[in-house]
This record gives sequence, C-alpha cells and structure tokens, in this order.
Amino acid sequence: MGRVLVTGGAGFIGANLCASLLAEGHEVTCLDNFSTSTRDKIAHLERHSRFQLLIGDVRNPIRVDADRIYNLACPASPPKYQADPVYTTETSVLGAINVLEMARRTGATVLQASTSEIYGEPAISPQIEDYRGNVNSWGPRACYDEGKRCAEALFFDYRQKYRVDVRVARIFNTYGPMMEPDDGRVVSNLLVQALRGDALTIYGDGSQTRSFCFVDDLVAGLRRLMERPGLPTPVNLGNPAEITILRIAQAVCGVVGTSPEIRFEPLPVDDPTRRRPDIGLARRHLEWEPKVSLEEGLRATAEYFRMRLLQSGALVAPLAEAAE
Ligand code: NAD
Ligand code: UDP
Repeated sequence: MGRVLVTGGAGFIGANLCASLLAEGHEVTCLDNFSTSTRDKIAHLERHSRFQLLIGDVRNPIRVDADRIYNLACPASPPKYQADPVYTTETSVLGAINVLEMARRTGATVLQASTSEIYGEPAISPQIEDYRGNVNSWGPRACYDEGKRCAEALFFDYRQKYRVDVRVARIFNTYGPMMEPDDGRVVSNLLVQALRGDALTIYGDGSQTRSFCFVDDLVAGLRRLMERPGLPTPVNLGNPAEITILRIAQAVCGVVGTSPEIRFEPLPVDDPTRRRPDIGLARRHLEWEPKVSLEEGLRATAEYFRMRLLQSGALVAPLAEAAE
C-alpha cells in the first residue's frame, strides 16, 4: 500500500478521493487551507488512523513523505475562483511548481487536476485532447483557465526536463456528495434550491450545455490514471452525456419531487455555450468510462444535501419524520 498526498483533500473531489484511498488501505495525507471547504466535512476522515491532515497552502513549498501526489488544491466554482482571481492563479501556478518540485526531489508520481476550461468556448464538439481551445486570456474566467493552462505546461516541462512522472486529467463538470451547499455551481445550487422550495436560478436562457459526471466515476478515473504509466498527454475524464441546463433543472425537480418556479438571471461573461468530452483516449488507455446514470447520481446527491441542510438547520424535517 502507498503513501498518498492529496492537496485540496478536504474539497468536494478531494474528500471523495481520500475516502476511496483509505478504503483500499493507503496512508493518506490531506493538505488543505479550507478556503472553499470546511473541516467539519472531513471529520469522518480525521477519525481514520491512516489519515493525516496538514493545514497549509500549496503556494508554499511542500515537504511530505509520499510516493503519489494528487494535486487538487484550487477553488473550482466560478464565483469562488473569481472572488480573488490573483489568489486563484497563484494557487494553480505556484501549487503546480511546489508539487512538481516535491516530486522531483522524492521521485513521487504526481497527478494534476486540470479542467475542461482549458478548451474555453469550444469551436468543436465533443472536445478531444488535441483541440487547443478558445480561451479569453483577460476575462473573468482567465484566472482559472490560464492558471490551469500554465499548470499543464509546467507538468509537461518537468516531465521533459527533470523526468518527473506526471499525469494530467482534464476533468469535466463533476457533481455528487461532499459539495458545499453554498458552492455556487449549478447542480449544488439547483438541488439546494429545490430542497428548500426556493426558485431555481437559471443563467441565460438555459440552452447552454454541460456533461455531468458523478464523483464516484471521476474518482475511479483519477485513480486508474495514476496507476497507468505511459500516457504522455493530458486525458479527458468526464461523462459524455450532454444536457442543457434547463433539462438538468427538470431532472433535479423530478428527483426532489417539487416544481418550484424558475428565475432567469443574466448569463455570466464568457460562460461556455457547450461542453462535452470525447473520452476515447480514457476508454482505450485506461479502460475507463462512467457508469452512474444522471438520475442515480442526482438521487445520491439530493440525499446528501438533504442531510447537510437538516444538520445545519437550513431545512426543517417534516413533522412525521422528525418524530421518528
Ligand atoms: P473544491 O473547491 O471543492 O475543492 C478545492 C479544495 O482545495 C478545497 O478544499 C480548498 O480549501 C482547497 N484549496 C484551495 N486553494 C488552496 C491552497 N492555496 N492551498 C491549499 N488548499 C487549497 O473543488 P473541487 O470541485 O473538489 O475541485 C478539485 C480540483 O478539481 C480543482 O483543482 C479543480 O480545478 C478540479 N476540477 C474540478 C471540476 C469539478 O467539476 N468539480 C472540474 C474540473 C476540474
Ligand atoms: N448555472 C445556472 N444556474 C446556477 C449556476 C450555474 O444556470 O445557479 C449555469 C452556468 O451559467 C453554466 C452552467 O450552469 O452555464 C454550469 O455552471 P457551473 O458553475 O456549474 O460550472 P461551469 O460554468 O464552470 O461549467
């Protein structure tokens, strides 16, 4: 069994990844500064004897005993990463240098959580890894998109110059348990709104598309990529089932069993109009593809948010249920 460092291990994907690694017998160190997560959420991980928490910032040099590093630390929700754009770019770029320097020193294998935002407003669909993207370098999303693009460049430069063993996953929209209710991304917003009986917020006319991957599938893909050497390129990981935002709102209503009103709000600047991964490379090289249907994934996520909202008092249990 290995010693694994997960930066951003208290975040949405990180907490799911840490749980999966612990379940298979690894020793896990989580490095996180809780800038977009809460310590409460990983209390169950902290009770585990093979789990260690280091409260710290990836923008600083890292010294941890580990043979694998998953570099996930970075705000990922548009309102969160745009709140302090300089911090976001620093986290991507300095964080990449710090994990790569650690890997160069120790010989650890290091995986970068890159993103479909690398493709920007795509001119082709589905997006294949060879597509170089269409990114605005100075708009509100640039801190994230360009930070992640620079991190990819650093990963392949360290591979070329210092023979560091790297992996780069281009992650497409992922959802599931362990998201923060106030995260700001679409699935968490809509589920929390539907559970509370609030109006559902749709930005623009809702005709833009995304392709949503359940977190268990994504974690399986990340772990498969880490353990499979020999891919000298980035790899798309996501669910190729494309859906409009209006349809995802309908799916959320179906799962929660409500039909709240819809409030249309302005489309954010540079919001991509479509996004869908070509996962041919992951299928061939990793023998990986998503297995969880949207309905199944939304049900599990709705249940998680229902519990979180009940615990925080943001949702009141129906009388019959409260009496049980
Ligand atoms: P998240 O915001 O839930 O988690 C990020 C974690 O990183 C948080 O716990 C946060 O506190 C921590 N963090 C942020 N800045 C840090 C810093 N400077 N030092 C230490 N810790 C820091 O986001 P997520 O959805 O779990 O995303 C994880 C990674 O996957 C990110 O790198 C993101 O860019 C990438 N990604 C996610 C998605 C998705 O749909 N969830 C899609 C593409 C890429
Ligand atoms: N979105 C929406 N309502 C919300 C939050 C997001 O309609 O409450 C839209 C957003 O404009 C985008 C899509 O849903 O078109 C996905 O947004 P998210 O922030 O989840 O991810 P990203 O834009 O990074 O893919």
